[in-house]
Amino acid sequence: MVDVRSQYLKIKDEIDSGIREVLETTAFINGPKVKKFEEEFEQYLGVKHVIPCANGTDALQIALMALGLKPGDEVIVPAFTYVATAEVIALLGLTPVMVDVDYDTFNVSSEAIRKAISPKTKAIVPVHLYGQSADMETIMEIANEHGLFVVEDNAQAIGADYIFKNGTRAKTGTIGHIGCTSFYPSKNLGCYGDGGAIMTQDDHLADLLHKIANHGQSVRYYHDVVGCNSRLDSIQAVVLSAKLKHLDEYCRARVRVADRYDDAFSKADWLKVPYRAPYSTHVFHQYTLRVIEGSRDALKKKLDEAGIPNMIYYPVPLYKQKAFEPFAGGIDYLENTEKLCKEVISLPIHTEMSDEQVDWVVGVLGGWRVGWLAS
Ligand SMILES: *Cc1c(COP(=O)(O)O)cnc(C)c1O
Repeated sequence: MVDVRSQYLKIKDEIDSGIREVLETTAFINGPKVKKFEEEFEQYLGVKHVIPCANGTDALQIALMALGLKPGDEVIVPAFTYVATAEVIALLGLTPVMVDVDYDTFNVSSEAIRKAISPKTKAIVPVHLYGQSADMETIMEIANEHGLFVVEDNAQAIGADYIFKNGTRAKTGTIGHIGCTSFYPSKNLGCYGDGGAIMTQDDHLADLLHKIANHGQSVRYYHDVVGCNSRLDSIQAVVLSAKLKHLDEYCRARVRVADRYDDAFSKADWLKVPYRAPYSTHVFHQYTLRVIEGSRDALKKKLDEAGIPNMIYYPVPLYKQKAFEPFAGGIDYLENTEKLCKEVISLPIHTEMSDEQVDWVVGVLGGWRVGWLAS
């Protein structure tokens, strides 16, 4: 699905020398490299505060801990997404309220959010799935109307721009009250281990987020709030600083692959290529097709046999996961979520992918449905 090694070889000198420097100075935790990356990332995103942490799931947990919510408070999340979002909500004793997504954008539906708001609703966690922003302007309007917090799960869309109706742009992850991201190796900005970050424009929240990620202390051994231990290490910061300089170029390389896939697959009436929303750029963390004639699983088998990596993100709606049964009361079917779980398939896409590799994937799909490429 990705080729992290070829990407590494192109920036090897910078990464190797930076890591050697960390080894020589032994500033493994909270060293100057972490501070440097934090500042570079703030500048790139145009956000006032970046709080580095240990992974994307921690970022979500720390963000929710900072909102001062009480057990039983409701947090609205999409039902079609990675588990981390709903998981941390449940872990904190809050109630995840799972709602449907848009069929075309794969992202949480603003209409569904509106319908799910109750007196207990305190926050919304939109997930910018596959590399494209949710409709943040509408979501922020709803949140402001009802006095709700918005925490963006930006683990899949780092580098994407949201485009407001008046034409201004903002990086995803900087629009809600808090944004969260992951630096897991296969993410668009990935390190060589685990890592994550929390973003906010709010000074008060930034203070609190820093504290929570550091055992609730800002002065050592004086603990103001109950926190946790979540740190980005210096070696990962070296990798991230080196890769951040190339992030926009990495995004463009992914879009180039997506364009080439689109050109081929838009000719097939049994496939739907990814929809590109007018209010967001797309950084293609995943290139996800919808196979609309109920033949997704047969196609998957064909790709597996041909040795082409592919993944189903995600095969089961959150409310049908055993772990989330306690929160599934009243939901048994969300139309778009159910449909997408049966239709989606993600193909290889990464920064080092050549035209020949794309054409090979296209050829295997074409050979399976003889004729559509020619038509
Ligand atoms: C990867 C991911 C996370 C979790 O990040 P980790 O660093 O693996 O904890 C959370 N949400 C989404 C949407 C993700 O894709």
